[in-house]
Parts: sequence; structure tokens; C-alpha cells
Amino acid sequence: MLLSQLAAIRIQVEWSHRVVSCHEDISAGQGGVVLDSGEKLEADLVVATDGVGTRSHGLVVGRMVEAKSVVMQFMDGVSG
Ligand SMILES: Cc1cc2nc3c(=O)[nH]c(=O)nc-3n(C[C@H](O)[C@H](O)[C@H](O)COP(=O)(O)OP(=O)(O)OC[C@H]3O[C@@H](n4cnc5c(N)ncnc54)[C@H](O)[C@@H]3O)c2cc1C
Repeated sequence: MLLSQLAAIRIQVEWSHRVVSCHEDISAGQGGVVLDSGEKLEADLVVATDGVGTRSHGLVVGRMVEAKSVVMQFMDGVSG
């Protein structure tokens, strides 16, 4: 359904690309991503859906956020 809707508004989907970083230029109202091929893509809007360990953390939070097991967080709390 999503793919057919994207096709209807002429948005092309490309598969098998890996994002290594995200960037934005607030004054220009532009953002984008850099792929592992080195290709730089610019866009009005970037929707990051790359799950845990997302490459967008550096931009949105200001640092990369390491995934941590809930059990380990509980154990850290208990021990100190
Ligand atoms: C073993 C296990 C069991 C789980 N069981 C449950 C459950 O029972 N119920 C429940 O609600 N949740 C469960 N979860 C959690 C659930 O899988 C996640 O919360 C959910 O998949 C998150 O969806 P997402 O779309 O944000 O990320 P994901 O499903 O992780 O999708 C991210 C996608 O982005 C791609 N990607 C990642 N990095 C990059 C990159 N740099 N460039 C390009 N693409 C990239 C990945 O290949 C992947 O296709 C489980 C998780 C695990 C590991």
C-alpha cells in the first residue's frame, strides 16, 4: 500500500543503500544523508526509520546513543 501510494505521487523508492550520516542546513531549510557509497542526497524532509542505533541520533540528540539491554540497565541501577 505504501509503495503504491508513493508511485502515485511519483516518488521513486531505491533499495539497498546504507546511510552513514545525516545532515541539515537550517537556514536553507534543507537536509540530507550520506550513503556508504559516498553519494550525498539532499531533501526538504528526511524521515529516519533505521531503528535502534539510528544514524540520526548524532543530528537530533547531538551524540550517538548506544543501544543498551534493559536487563543491563536494571543491573546498573541495582549495583550503583
Ligand atoms: C529478538 C527481538 C524480538 C522482539 N520482539 C518484539 C515483540 O514481541 N513485540 C514488539 O513490540 N517488539 C519486539 N521487538 C522490537 C521490535 O522489533 C522493534 O521495536 C521494531 O522492529 C522497531 O521498528 P523500527 O522500524 O523502528 O526498526 P527496525 O525494525 O530495526 O527497522 C530498521 C530498518 O532500517 C534499516 N537500517 C538500519 N540502519 C540503517 C542504515 N544506516 N542505513 C539504511 N538502513 C538502515 C535496517 O536494515 C532495518 O530494515 C523485538 C526485537 C527483537 C530484536
